[in-house]
Amino acid sequence: MIEYTWENLRRPFLLLMICMFCLKANESFAQKIPANIKVLLDELPPLHFDRGDRELLYQYSVGDLSGLSDEDSRNIIRELARRGVGTISFWRKGDKMESSMEEGVRIARIQQALGLKVVVDASDLLYGFYDGSPASFHVDHKGILYADSSFDGQKMGCPFTVHKRIPVIRSRIAAFVEAYKAAGVNIDMATADWEIDGPIEWNDAWANAKNCVRCRKNLPDINNFKSFQAVLRSMRSKLLREVYANPVKEKFPEVLITNYAVYPNDGWRYWYDYFEYPQPELPHIKDQQALYRPWYQEFTETGLTMAMPVMYTWYPTYDWYPAYSPDYRWFYNMLKVGSNAAEHTPSGIPIASFVHWHTTVPPENPDKRVQQMSRGAYQELLWHLLLRGHDLLFSWCLKEEIREEMQLLQEVYDQSLRYNEWLKNGQPLIFDVPKEESSVVSAIRLNNKVLVRRTDFKINKKPIVVNVDGVYLKIPYKPGECQVFSLE
Ligand SMILES: [Zn+2]
Repeated sequence: MIEYTWENLRRPFLLLMICMFCLKANESFAQKIPANIKVLLDELPPLHFDRGDRELLYQYSVGDLSGLSDEDSRNIIRELARRGVGTISFWRKGDKMESSMEEGVRIARIQQALGLKVVVDASDLLYGFYDGSPASFHVDHKGILYADSSFDGQKMGCPFTVHKRIPVIRSRIAAFVEAYKAAGVNIDMATADWEIDGPIEWNDAWANAKNCVRCRKNLPDINNFKSFQAVLRSMRSKLLREVYANPVKEKFPEVLITNYAVYPNDGWRYWYDYFEYPQPELPHIKDQQALYRPWYQEFTETGLTMAMPVMYTWYPTYDWYPAYSPDYRWFYNMLKVGSNAAEHTPSGIPIASFVHWHTTVPPENPDKRVQQMSRGAYQELLWHLLLRGHDLLFSWCLKEEIREEMQLLQEVYDQSLRYNEWLKNGQPLIFDVPKEESSVVSAIRLNNKVLVRRTDFKINKKPIVVNVDGVYLKIPYKPGECQVFSLE
Protein backbone atom coordinates (compact mmCIF):
# COMPACT_ATOMS: atom_id res chain seq x y z
CA MET A 1 0.00 0.00 0.00
CA ILE A 2 1.51 3.34 -1.12
CA GLU A 3 1.01 6.30 1.10
CA TYR A 4 0.19 9.44 -0.86
CA THR A 5 2.73 11.60 0.86
CA TRP A 6 4.83 14.28 -0.90
CA GLU A 7 7.91 12.16 -0.15
CA ASN A 8 6.47 9.26 -2.19
CA LEU A 9 4.93 11.32 -4.97
CA ARG A 10 7.83 13.71 -5.46
CA ARG A 11 9.76 11.57 -7.94
CA PRO A 12 6.85 10.63 -10.26
CA PHE A 13 5.61 14.21 -10.11
CA LEU A 14 8.97 15.64 -11.10
CA LEU A 15 9.33 13.06 -13.90
CA LEU A 16 5.92 14.01 -15.23
CA MET A 17 6.87 17.69 -15.19
CA ILE A 18 10.09 16.98 -17.08
CA CYS A 19 8.19 14.94 -19.70
CA MET A 20 5.64 17.70 -20.18
CA PHE A 21 8.42 20.27 -20.54
CA CYS A 22 10.18 18.12 -23.17
CA LEU A 23 6.96 17.56 -25.10
CA LYS A 24 6.23 21.28 -25.05
CA ALA A 25 9.78 22.14 -26.16
CA ASN A 26 9.57 19.55 -28.92
CA GLU A 27 6.22 20.91 -30.04
CA SER A 28 7.53 24.47 -30.22
CA PHE A 29 10.63 23.20 -32.11
CA ALA A 30 8.37 21.42 -34.59
CA GLN A 31 6.32 24.59 -35.02
CA LYS A 32 9.44 26.61 -35.77
CA ILE A 33 10.68 24.30 -38.54
CA PRO A 34 9.72 25.92 -41.85
CA ALA A 35 6.95 23.91 -43.57
CA ASN A 36 9.02 23.20 -46.70
CA ILE A 37 11.78 21.66 -44.57
CA LYS A 38 9.40 19.75 -42.32
CA VAL A 39 7.82 18.00 -45.30
CA LEU A 40 11.26 16.84 -46.47
CA LEU A 41 12.22 15.56 -43.01
CA ASP A 42 8.87 13.75 -42.71
CA GLU A 43 8.57 12.35 -46.22
CA LEU A 44 12.08 11.57 -47.44
CA PRO A 45 13.81 8.47 -46.06
CA PRO A 46 17.49 8.66 -45.15
CA LEU A 47 19.70 7.68 -48.10
CA HIS A 48 20.21 3.93 -48.55
CA PHE A 49 23.59 4.24 -50.20
CA ASP A 50 26.82 5.90 -49.10
CA ARG A 51 27.05 9.42 -50.52
CA GLY A 52 30.86 9.49 -50.45
CA ASP A 53 31.95 12.88 -51.74
CA ARG A 54 29.02 13.35 -54.15
CA GLU A 55 27.42 16.77 -53.83
CA LEU A 56 24.01 16.96 -52.15
CA LEU A 57 20.74 17.72 -53.90
CA TYR A 58 19.55 21.31 -53.51
CA GLN A 59 15.95 22.45 -53.24
CA TYR A 60 15.73 26.15 -54.02
CA SER A 61 13.58 27.04 -51.01
CA VAL A 62 15.51 25.13 -48.36
CA GLY A 63 17.59 27.56 -46.37
CA ASP A 64 15.90 29.84 -43.87
CA LEU A 65 16.60 28.52 -40.36
CA SER A 66 16.78 31.97 -38.77
CA GLY A 67 14.13 31.26 -36.12
CA LEU A 68 16.00 28.26 -34.74
CA SER A 69 18.73 27.80 -32.14
CA ASP A 70 22.21 26.61 -33.13
CA GLU A 71 21.42 23.15 -31.84
CA ASP A 72 18.11 22.88 -33.69
CA SER A 73 19.67 24.29 -36.87
CA ARG A 74 22.49 21.76 -36.64
CA ASN A 75 20.03 18.89 -36.20
CA ILE A 76 17.98 20.01 -39.21
CA ILE A 77 21.01 20.55 -41.48
CA ARG A 78 22.36 17.14 -40.48
CA GLU A 79 19.01 15.36 -40.93
CA LEU A 80 18.50 16.99 -44.34
CA ALA A 81 21.99 15.89 -45.40
CA ARG A 82 21.21 12.30 -44.27
CA ARG A 83 18.36 12.51 -46.78
CA GLY A 84 20.70 13.92 -49.44
CA VAL A 85 19.46 17.51 -49.26
CA GLY A 86 21.67 20.57 -48.79
CA THR A 87 20.91 23.89 -47.12
CA ILE A 88 21.38 27.22 -48.94
CA SER A 89 21.89 30.57 -47.19
CA PHE A 90 19.92 33.19 -49.12
CA TRP A 91 21.66 36.56 -48.88
CA ARG A 92 19.41 39.60 -48.46
CA LYS A 93 19.98 43.29 -49.17
CA GLY A 94 18.60 46.54 -47.70
CA ASP A 95 17.55 46.53 -44.06
CA LYS A 96 17.90 42.71 -43.94
CA MET A 97 21.52 42.82 -45.05
CA GLU A 98 23.19 42.83 -41.65
CA SER A 99 21.03 40.12 -40.08
CA SER A 100 21.33 38.03 -43.26
CA MET A 101 25.13 38.27 -43.07
CA GLU A 102 25.17 37.15 -39.42
CA GLU A 103 22.77 34.33 -40.17
CA GLY A 104 24.80 33.21 -43.19
CA VAL A 105 27.98 33.06 -41.13
CA ARG A 106 26.15 31.16 -38.35
CA ILE A 107 24.87 28.53 -40.80
CA ALA A 108 28.30 28.33 -42.49
CA ARG A 109 29.93 27.51 -39.13
CA ILE A 110 27.42 24.72 -38.56
CA GLN A 111 27.88 23.35 -42.09
CA GLN A 112 31.66 23.34 -41.73
CA ALA A 113 31.48 21.65 -38.31
CA LEU A 114 29.32 18.92 -39.90
CA GLY A 115 31.78 18.50 -42.77
CA LEU A 116 29.27 19.89 -45.29
CA LYS A 117 29.73 22.47 -48.05
CA VAL A 118 28.85 26.11 -47.40
CA VAL A 119 26.35 27.09 -50.09
CA VAL A 120 25.01 30.62 -50.57
CA ASP A 121 22.61 32.32 -52.96
CA ALA A 122 23.19 35.92 -54.09
CA SER A 123 20.06 36.54 -56.24
CA ASP A 124 18.56 39.29 -54.07
CA LEU A 125 21.86 41.21 -54.01
CA LEU A 126 22.31 41.09 -57.80
CA TYR A 127 18.95 42.60 -58.74
CA GLY A 128 18.76 46.34 -59.37
CA PHE A 129 20.78 47.19 -62.49
CA TYR A 130 17.48 48.45 -63.83
CA ASP A 131 16.24 50.00 -60.60
CA GLY A 132 12.96 51.36 -62.01
CA SER A 133 14.17 54.98 -61.92
CA PRO A 134 13.78 57.18 -65.04
CA ALA A 135 17.59 57.54 -65.06
CA SER A 136 17.78 53.86 -66.08
CA PHE A 137 15.28 54.23 -69.00
CA HIS A 138 15.79 54.50 -72.77
CA VAL A 139 15.43 57.97 -74.35
CA ASP A 140 13.84 58.73 -77.74
CA HIS A 141 14.70 61.53 -80.20
CA LYS A 142 12.22 63.89 -78.49
CA GLY A 143 13.95 63.33 -75.15
CA ILE A 144 11.07 61.21 -73.79
CA LEU A 145 12.20 58.55 -71.32
CA TYR A 146 10.65 55.08 -71.60
CA ALA A 147 11.05 51.60 -70.14
CA ASP A 148 10.57 48.21 -71.82
CA SER A 149 7.63 46.45 -70.16
CA SER A 150 7.70 43.31 -72.34
CA PHE A 151 9.50 41.25 -69.67
CA ASP A 152 6.74 40.14 -67.32
CA GLY A 153 5.78 43.80 -66.78
CA GLN A 154 9.13 44.78 -65.24
CA LYS A 155 10.59 48.21 -66.05
CA MET A 156 13.56 47.13 -68.14
CA GLY A 157 15.80 50.07 -68.95
CA CYS A 158 18.56 51.09 -71.35
CA PRO A 159 21.65 48.83 -71.41
CA PHE A 160 23.88 51.90 -71.64
CA THR A 161 22.92 53.05 -68.13
CA VAL A 162 23.87 49.89 -66.20
CA HIS A 163 27.56 50.74 -65.71
CA LYS A 164 26.54 53.31 -63.07
CA ARG A 165 25.09 50.51 -60.95
CA ILE A 166 28.20 48.30 -60.94
CA PRO A 167 29.84 49.83 -57.80
CA VAL A 168 26.55 49.68 -55.84
CA ILE A 169 25.84 46.01 -56.58
CA ARG A 170 29.47 44.94 -56.35
CA SER A 171 29.71 46.49 -52.86
CA ARG A 172 26.80 44.33 -51.63
CA ILE A 173 28.52 41.11 -52.73
CA ALA A 174 31.89 42.32 -51.41
CA ALA A 175 30.37 43.04 -47.97
CA PHE A 176 29.03 39.47 -47.63
CA VAL A 177 32.23 37.92 -48.89
CA GLU A 178 34.24 40.03 -46.46
CA ALA A 179 31.99 39.03 -43.54
CA TYR A 180 32.51 35.31 -44.30
CA LYS A 181 36.26 35.82 -44.67
CA ALA A 182 36.50 37.81 -41.43
CA ALA A 183 34.56 35.09 -39.58
CA GLY A 184 36.99 32.46 -40.87
CA VAL A 185 34.33 30.45 -42.73
CA ASN A 186 34.47 29.29 -46.33
CA ILE A 187 32.14 29.77 -49.31
CA ASP A 188 32.21 26.53 -51.28
CA MET A 189 29.38 27.21 -53.68
CA ALA A 190 27.58 30.39 -54.76
CA THR A 191 24.39 30.31 -56.82
CA ALA A 192 22.07 33.00 -58.16
CA ASP A 193 18.87 33.29 -60.10
CA TRP A 194 19.52 36.65 -61.75
CA GLU A 195 17.17 36.84 -64.73
CA ILE A 196 14.84 39.76 -65.52
CA ASP A 197 17.33 42.62 -65.10
CA GLY A 198 20.20 44.09 -67.09
CA PRO A 199 20.72 43.81 -70.86
CA ILE A 200 18.61 41.10 -72.59
CA GLU A 201 18.05 40.93 -76.36
CA TRP A 202 14.63 39.18 -76.51
CA ASN A 203 10.95 40.24 -76.51
CA ASP A 204 10.61 43.97 -77.39
CA ALA A 205 14.23 44.74 -76.42
CA TRP A 206 15.52 45.13 -79.99
CA ALA A 207 12.60 47.36 -81.09
CA ASN A 208 12.97 49.53 -77.98
CA ALA A 209 16.73 49.88 -78.46
CA LYS A 210 16.22 50.95 -82.09
CA ASN A 211 14.03 53.83 -80.84
CA CYS A 212 16.58 55.00 -78.28
CA VAL A 213 19.12 57.67 -79.25
CA ARG A 214 21.60 56.43 -76.64
CA CYS A 215 21.37 52.83 -77.89
CA ARG A 216 21.71 53.94 -81.56
CA LYS A 217 24.81 55.97 -80.70
CA ASN A 218 26.43 53.04 -78.90
CA LEU A 219 25.35 50.35 -81.38
CA PRO A 220 26.35 51.38 -84.93
CA ASP A 221 25.31 47.92 -86.23
CA ILE A 222 21.95 48.01 -84.40
CA ASN A 223 19.98 46.73 -87.40
CA ASN A 224 21.81 43.39 -87.29
CA PHE A 225 20.20 41.18 -84.64
CA LYS A 226 23.19 38.86 -84.17
CA SER A 227 25.45 41.83 -83.58
CA PHE A 228 22.88 43.40 -81.17
CA GLN A 229 22.73 40.06 -79.33
CA ALA A 230 26.52 39.78 -79.10
CA VAL A 231 26.95 43.27 -77.62
CA LEU A 232 24.13 42.87 -75.09
CA ARG A 233 25.17 39.38 -73.96
CA SER A 234 28.76 40.51 -73.63
CA MET A 235 27.63 43.45 -71.47
CA ARG A 236 25.49 41.11 -69.37
CA SER A 237 28.41 38.72 -68.89
CA LYS A 238 30.66 41.59 -67.83
CA LEU A 239 28.13 42.60 -65.14
CA LEU A 240 28.09 39.05 -63.72
CA ARG A 241 31.88 38.93 -63.81
CA GLU A 242 32.52 42.31 -62.18
CA VAL A 243 29.89 42.37 -59.45
CA TYR A 244 29.58 38.66 -58.65
CA ALA A 245 32.17 36.16 -59.95
CA ASN A 246 35.27 38.31 -59.38
CA PRO A 247 34.54 39.60 -55.85
CA VAL A 248 33.68 36.10 -54.61
CA LYS A 249 36.67 34.46 -56.35
CA GLU A 250 39.05 37.12 -55.00
CA LYS A 251 38.45 35.91 -51.43
CA PHE A 252 37.49 32.30 -52.20
CA PRO A 253 39.43 31.23 -55.31
CA GLU A 254 38.15 27.63 -55.17
CA VAL A 255 34.46 28.60 -55.13
CA LEU A 256 32.00 26.95 -57.51
CA ILE A 257 30.02 29.96 -58.69
CA THR A 258 27.08 29.92 -61.07
CA ASN A 259 23.94 31.68 -62.30
CA TYR A 260 20.63 30.19 -63.46
CA ALA A 261 20.51 29.48 -67.23
CA VAL A 262 24.15 30.38 -67.97
CA TYR A 263 25.99 27.44 -69.56
CA PRO A 264 28.26 26.57 -72.49
CA ASN A 265 26.25 25.55 -75.57
CA ASP A 266 26.27 24.80 -79.30
CA GLY A 267 25.18 28.33 -80.24
CA TRP A 268 21.47 27.50 -79.85
CA ARG A 269 18.92 27.60 -77.04
CA TYR A 270 16.18 24.97 -77.10
CA TRP A 271 13.85 26.45 -74.45
CA TYR A 272 12.14 29.68 -73.38
CA ASP A 273 11.80 31.03 -69.89
CA TYR A 274 8.31 31.97 -68.63
CA PHE A 275 8.88 35.65 -69.52
CA GLU A 276 10.11 34.95 -73.07
CA TYR A 277 8.18 33.95 -76.20
CA PRO A 278 9.06 32.69 -79.68
CA GLN A 279 9.79 35.44 -82.24
CA PRO A 280 9.49 33.97 -85.76
CA GLU A 281 10.75 37.28 -87.24
CA LEU A 282 14.18 36.67 -85.65
CA PRO A 283 16.80 34.09 -86.76
CA HIS A 284 15.76 30.57 -85.70
CA ILE A 285 15.79 26.84 -86.47
CA LYS A 286 12.44 25.07 -86.78
CA ASP A 287 11.97 21.54 -85.39
CA GLN A 288 8.33 20.42 -85.83
CA GLN A 289 6.56 23.38 -84.11
CA ALA A 290 9.56 24.42 -82.00
CA LEU A 291 11.60 27.55 -82.81
CA TYR A 292 15.14 27.34 -81.45
CA ARG A 293 17.01 30.61 -80.89
CA PRO A 294 20.62 31.52 -81.62
CA TRP A 295 22.56 31.98 -78.38
CA TYR A 296 25.74 33.85 -77.57
CA GLN A 297 28.68 32.02 -75.92
CA GLU A 298 28.47 33.99 -72.71
CA PHE A 299 29.79 31.47 -70.19
CA THR A 300 33.53 32.13 -70.41
CA GLU A 301 33.02 35.91 -70.32
CA THR A 302 31.08 35.69 -67.04
CA GLY A 303 33.99 34.25 -65.05
CA LEU A 304 31.58 31.68 -63.56
CA THR A 305 33.07 28.29 -62.64
CA MET A 306 29.94 26.11 -62.74
CA ALA A 307 27.40 25.71 -65.56
CA MET A 308 23.67 25.86 -64.79
CA PRO A 309 21.30 24.59 -67.49
CA VAL A 310 17.53 24.44 -66.97
CA MET A 311 15.47 21.35 -67.80
CA TYR A 312 11.83 22.18 -67.04
CA THR A 313 8.51 20.90 -68.35
CA TRP A 314 7.58 24.36 -69.69
CA TYR A 315 3.87 24.20 -70.64
CA PRO A 316 4.23 25.27 -74.33
CA THR A 317 6.78 22.49 -74.99
CA TYR A 318 3.96 19.94 -75.19
CA ASP A 319 2.61 21.40 -78.44
CA TRP A 320 5.99 21.75 -80.09
CA TYR A 321 6.36 18.10 -81.07
CA PRO A 322 3.01 16.71 -82.28
CA ALA A 323 4.81 13.77 -83.94
CA TYR A 324 5.74 12.31 -80.54
CA SER A 325 3.96 10.52 -77.68
CA PRO A 326 3.13 12.75 -74.68
CA ASP A 327 6.15 11.59 -72.66
CA TYR A 328 8.63 11.88 -75.50
CA ARG A 329 7.54 15.47 -76.21
CA TRP A 330 8.83 16.50 -72.78
CA PHE A 331 11.73 14.06 -72.67
CA TYR A 332 13.05 14.94 -76.14
CA ASN A 333 13.18 18.66 -75.37
CA MET A 334 14.63 18.35 -71.88
CA LEU A 335 17.28 15.85 -72.94
CA LYS A 336 18.13 18.09 -75.91
CA VAL A 337 18.71 21.01 -73.51
CA GLY A 338 20.69 18.85 -71.09
CA SER A 339 22.80 17.19 -73.79
CA ASN A 340 23.66 20.55 -75.33
CA ALA A 341 25.06 21.77 -71.99
CA ALA A 342 26.78 18.45 -71.25
CA GLU A 343 28.48 18.13 -74.64
CA HIS A 344 29.87 21.68 -74.65
CA THR A 345 30.91 22.17 -71.03
CA PRO A 346 34.64 21.51 -70.51
CA SER A 347 35.37 18.62 -68.14
CA GLY A 348 36.76 20.85 -65.36
CA ILE A 349 33.48 22.80 -65.08
CA PRO A 350 30.80 21.04 -63.01
CA ILE A 351 27.23 21.15 -64.31
CA ALA A 352 24.56 22.05 -61.74
CA SER A 353 21.18 21.49 -63.33
CA PHE A 354 17.83 23.01 -62.46
CA VAL A 355 15.07 20.44 -62.97
CA HIS A 356 11.27 20.51 -62.51
CA TRP A 357 8.70 17.78 -63.09
CA HIS A 358 5.19 19.27 -62.62
CA THR A 359 4.09 21.04 -65.82
CA THR A 360 5.81 24.40 -65.48
CA VAL A 361 3.98 27.75 -65.45
CA PRO A 362 0.71 26.54 -67.01
CA PRO A 363 -1.88 29.20 -67.94
CA GLU A 364 -4.83 29.86 -65.64
CA ASN A 365 -7.03 27.39 -67.52
CA PRO A 366 -4.63 24.76 -68.85
CA ASP A 367 -5.72 22.83 -71.93
CA LYS A 368 -6.74 19.31 -70.89
CA ARG A 369 -4.85 17.91 -73.88
CA VAL A 370 -1.55 18.89 -72.24
CA GLN A 371 -0.57 15.77 -70.34
CA GLN A 372 1.76 15.85 -67.37
CA MET A 373 5.06 14.06 -68.01
CA SER A 374 4.92 10.64 -66.34
CA ARG A 375 6.96 10.05 -63.20
CA GLY A 376 8.79 7.21 -64.91
CA ALA A 377 9.82 9.26 -67.94
CA TYR A 378 11.04 12.08 -65.66
CA GLN A 379 13.15 9.73 -63.58
CA GLU A 380 14.60 8.22 -66.77
CA LEU A 381 15.47 11.76 -67.88
CA LEU A 382 17.37 12.31 -64.61
CA TRP A 383 19.35 9.11 -65.22
CA HIS A 384 20.27 10.16 -68.74
CA LEU A 385 21.36 13.61 -67.51
CA LEU A 386 23.65 11.96 -64.93
CA LEU A 387 25.08 9.56 -67.51
CA ARG A 388 25.70 12.48 -69.88
CA GLY A 389 27.79 14.39 -67.33
CA HIS A 390 25.43 16.48 -65.18
CA ASP A 391 26.94 16.69 -61.70
CA LEU A 392 24.51 18.42 -59.33
CA LEU A 393 20.73 18.58 -59.31
CA PHE A 394 18.83 21.69 -58.17
CA SER A 395 15.07 21.57 -57.70
CA TRP A 396 12.86 24.61 -58.15
CA CYS A 397 9.13 24.12 -57.55
CA LEU A 398 5.98 25.60 -56.04
CA LYS A 399 5.37 25.06 -52.31
CA GLU A 400 2.67 22.47 -52.87
CA GLU A 401 4.87 20.47 -55.28
CA ILE A 402 7.87 19.99 -53.01
CA ARG A 403 7.03 16.54 -51.63
CA GLU A 404 6.61 14.83 -55.00
CA GLU A 405 9.38 16.78 -56.70
CA MET A 406 11.90 15.83 -54.05
CA GLN A 407 10.74 12.22 -53.76
CA LEU A 408 11.26 11.71 -57.51
CA LEU A 409 14.64 13.40 -57.38
CA GLN A 410 15.85 11.68 -54.23
CA GLU A 411 14.96 8.17 -55.48
CA VAL A 412 17.14 8.55 -58.56
CA TYR A 413 19.89 10.34 -56.66
CA ASP A 414 19.98 7.65 -53.96
CA GLN A 415 20.20 4.82 -56.51
CA SER A 416 22.82 6.72 -58.50
CA LEU A 417 25.12 6.84 -55.46
CA ARG A 418 25.98 3.21 -56.31
CA TYR A 419 27.70 4.54 -59.42
CA ASN A 420 29.64 7.38 -57.75
CA GLU A 421 32.94 6.26 -59.21
CA TRP A 422 31.48 6.25 -62.74
CA LEU A 423 29.76 9.60 -62.32
CA LYS A 424 32.83 11.24 -60.82
CA ASN A 425 35.60 9.86 -63.03
CA GLY A 426 33.82 8.43 -66.06
CA GLN A 427 33.72 9.86 -69.56
CA PRO A 428 30.20 10.43 -71.00
CA LEU A 429 30.08 9.07 -74.54
CA ILE A 430 26.64 9.79 -76.01
CA PHE A 431 24.97 13.19 -76.47
CA ASP A 432 22.65 12.27 -79.31
CA VAL A 433 18.88 12.77 -78.86
CA PRO A 434 16.96 10.63 -81.37
CA LYS A 435 14.63 12.60 -83.64
CA GLU A 436 12.85 9.32 -84.34
CA GLU A 437 10.98 8.28 -81.19
CA SER A 438 12.31 4.85 -80.23
CA SER A 439 15.03 4.01 -77.69
CA VAL A 440 17.37 6.47 -75.98
CA VAL A 441 20.79 5.32 -74.81
CA SER A 442 23.32 7.08 -72.61
CA ALA A 443 26.70 5.64 -71.70
CA ILE A 444 29.58 6.59 -69.46
CA ARG A 445 33.01 4.99 -69.77
CA LEU A 446 35.33 4.15 -66.87
CA ASN A 447 38.57 2.41 -67.91
CA ASN A 448 37.47 -0.50 -70.08
CA LYS A 449 33.90 -0.68 -68.86
CA VAL A 450 30.84 1.23 -69.83
CA LEU A 451 27.73 1.99 -67.78
CA VAL A 452 24.65 2.16 -69.99
CA ARG A 453 21.03 3.27 -69.57
CA ARG A 454 18.49 2.30 -72.21
CA THR A 455 14.99 3.83 -72.18
CA ASP A 456 12.32 2.74 -74.65
CA PHE A 457 9.51 4.99 -75.82
CA LYS A 458 8.14 2.48 -78.37
CA ILE A 459 7.56 -1.14 -77.40
CA ASN A 460 10.70 -3.04 -78.31
CA LYS A 461 11.87 -5.90 -76.12
CA LYS A 462 14.68 -6.92 -78.47
CA PRO A 463 18.32 -6.05 -77.85
CA ILE A 464 19.48 -2.94 -79.68
CA VAL A 465 22.95 -2.45 -81.11
CA VAL A 466 24.66 0.86 -80.38
CA ASN A 467 28.10 2.10 -81.36
CA VAL A 468 29.72 3.08 -78.08
CA ASP A 469 33.20 4.57 -78.45
CA GLY A 470 33.84 2.56 -81.62
CA VAL A 471 32.56 -0.74 -80.20
CA TYR A 472 29.20 -2.19 -81.23
CA LEU A 473 27.38 -3.11 -78.01
CA LYS A 474 24.30 -5.30 -77.94
CA ILE A 475 22.12 -3.78 -75.23
CA PRO A 476 19.32 -6.04 -73.92
CA TYR A 477 15.89 -4.71 -72.94
CA LYS A 478 16.15 -4.02 -69.20
CA PRO A 479 13.74 -1.21 -68.30
CA GLY A 480 14.63 0.81 -65.21
CA GLU A 481 18.13 -0.63 -64.89
CA CYS A 482 21.67 0.47 -65.54
CA GLN A 483 23.81 -2.12 -67.33
CA VAL A 484 27.58 -2.58 -67.32
CA PHE A 485 29.48 -3.83 -70.39
CA SER A 486 33.13 -4.51 -71.08
CA LEU A 487 34.61 -2.68 -74.06
CA GLU A 488 37.40 -5.24 -74.56
ZN1 LIG B 1 18.70 52.77 -74.84
